[in-house]
Amino acid sequence: MSLFGPRYADGQVLDLGGLWVRLKVNARAKRISLRVDKVKGVAIAVAPTQRRLADAAAFARSRQAWLADRLAETTPVDPPLAAGDTLAVFDVPWTLQPDGRRPRLEAGSDTAGLRLMGCGEDEVDPGLVIRAIRRQAAVTYDQRVEFHCAALGAPKPSLALIDARTRWGSCTPAGSGRVGSIRVSWRLALAPFEVADYVVAHECAHLLEANHGPRFWAHVRTLVGDEKPHRAWLRRHGASLHAVLAKAPT
Ligand SMILES: [Zn+2]
Repeated sequence: MSLFGPRYADGQVLDLGGLWVRLKVNARAKRISLRVDKVKGVAIAVAPTQRRLADAAAFARSRQAWLADRLAETTPVDPPLAAGDTLAVFDVPWTLQPDGRRPRLEAGSDTAGLRLMGCGEDEVDPGLVIRAIRRQAAVTYDQRVEFHCAALGAPKPSLALIDARTRWGSCTPAGSGRVGSIRVSWRLALAPFEVADYVVAHECAHLLEANHGPRFWAHVRTLVGDEKPHRAWLRRHGASLHAVLAKAPT
């Protein structure tokens, strides 16, 4: 039993050199144990009582190499969000500050970013963060759709947000008597703005060309220039956008 040393809390997440270990009290547990949640990509160290969490933490540290092997087989996910963490939303840093009040965005103390206040009681609620990002995505995409459609001379389509794993956006061109519609993943709000804007422009260009032929790409390049770096970014980093806030309800 540890009489001195750091105090640990139920639910606390330890960073062991990039490995995430969540401490958990389970009154039914007979002893200290360690397991890996492969879906969430975190380890869980269980102790029967709060006082024995220090032992659970020490045990996790002593098994760091074993944990690294087990966690290497899982899809890496970002650590759970905590108060004071920062997320870049369309390149603007949002600092998360739960305060148990209504969720709202406020100017930060330095003029560089914004504070997302009220995203939980005293812990960050991922569902509230997602809602705030989706609200911002709807506003930003709407402005960009309007901009690109004006440049293309196309009527503005309806816009919806999606959270699909297999595609970043889709488009249904206008047909007899109906306006076109565009769907874009809200997760692109977490990508660099230029990448998100490329996807919006891509779907807008489909309003005129429902294919990926030379005329389609000519429209895209008129709107956002060379598309190759943006497509390369999505191939390389796209999966990481799905890892952020992955297990939260939407
Ligand atoms: Zn396309």
